[in-house]
Parts: sequence; C-alpha cells; structure tokens
Amino acid sequence: MMEAKRYLTTIGILLGILTVLLGVVNVFIANLTQVFSTLVNVITFLIILTIVFSTVITYRVIKDKEVSSKLMSINFKIVSILFPIVTYVASLIGISKNEIRIIFIKLNNKYIYSKKYNLNSEDILILIPHCVQKNSCKLKVTNEITNCKQCGLCNIGDLVQLKEKANVNIFVATGGTLARKIIMDNRPKAVIAVACERDLTAGVQDTSKIPVLGVFNKRPNGPCVDTSIDIKEVEEAINFFTSKK
Ligand code: SF4
Repeated sequence: MMEAKRYLTTIGILLGILTVLLGVVNVFIANLTQVFSTLVNVITFLIILTIVFSTVITYRVIKDKEVSSKLMSINFKIVSILFPIVTYVASLIGISKNEIRIIFIKLNNKYIYSKKYNLNSEDILILIPHCVQKNSCKLKVTNEITNCKQCGLCNIGDLVQLKEKANVNIFVATGGTLARKIIMDNRPKAVIAVACERDLTAGVQDTSKIPVLGVFNKRPNGPCVDTSIDIKEVEEAINFFTSKK
C-alpha cells in the first residue's frame, strides 16, 4: 500500500528532525544546569517514544493486524495531535497531503469498526457532497434529496432508493459549513460522510463527539465535478451502525 509506505517515510523524517533537534538543543544547553538538560532530554525522548509507539500501532492497524479498540483509540488521539506536523513534513518532502489524509481516515474507520453499535436507522445521518449530482442537472436536491427524478445519470437516484430502503436521513451538503449545520440541526448518533480526502479529514476532526465513518468519493472527472459513490460501501456502513452484520 503506497500511502502506508509514504506515511512511514514521513514519520522517519520527523524522527530524524527530532533527533537532530535534540543534538542541537544539547549543544546549546551544555552550559546550563544539569537538571534543565536532563528535563529537555527526557521530554524529547518521551515524544520520540510516543511517535514510535503510534507508528507501530498505525502500521498494525492499516495492515489489518489485531489491535485492541483501546490501543486504537489512544493511537488515534496521538495521530490527531501529530497530524498537522506530519502533513507539513510530508509536503516538505514532496509527499501528497492526501496520502496522509487517507491513512488518517483509515485509522478513524478501523477504530469505529472495532466498536459495537446498535442504532436505529433514523439516528444515522448520511452526508453527501454536492458534486455527486450530475453537473448538468438543474433539480434542487440540496434541501430535499427526493426532488431527484432518479434518471440514472448520477448516484443521487441510488441514494433516494437507499433512503427509502434503509430509512436513514440523507442530505446533500454544498460545503463544510452546511454539513456542520445539518449535523447540529439533526443531532444524529452516527454520521456516514462521503467526501474527498481533505473534506473527510476536516469533517472527522470537527465532529469528534459523534462516530463518523468516512467514505471516499470517486473522481473520474477530476475534483468536484460529477463524482460518484460506492453505494455498497455506504450500505455496509449503515448495516454496521444498525448491527445488521
Ligand atoms: S439522478 Fe437525480 S440528481 Fe442525478 S441527474 Fe438524474 S435527476 Fe438529477
């Protein structure tokens, strides 16, 4: 898996930077008190140890090896804190931020899938990006998805059928602000969010109090135009939250 390799490369470089920093700091503090010097070394060592621990757990999770839910939870918190630094280091060495975001969403999903839910379908909210609607379609589906005439030209029609079949709330959001408002207005117990890597990462970070399963949309026509969804993946996520599998 390419993203995993690049994630590990980024972490390796981050650890290298920290080690160099440790050396530099030691040179500067050589003349200061022994206590201060020891304190700096202990803190840096603990940071490095935490990153190594998190990387081992991350590697095991994305390679589908057994990891307890508790360890996944701790690791996800560490990765969330490290995320801005890791994406910054990745971009410095020419690794796409999206590859790091894919790892982040995979860790989030695996953690949620490691838990058990037994929700009513009406407590699940599904958020769909507006770019799934056929660009040439003039129907207004953002407020009411059932305005779709199910002509078969985009996945909105499939989602209308899914809404009827599974009795879930499905909304088409034109951006992060509207998505947040929809969540606040509907107060769901779980969210299934379909979006690109960037929007999903931001959404998961914003909605830390509710479980959010992320589903990547497909972009055969480039970003934000006539994107598509794997409806099966969304259906599986609904079945998981309602304990139907
Ligand atoms: S499936 Fe619905 S939203 Fe998509 S193009 Fe047809 S009518 Fe428009």
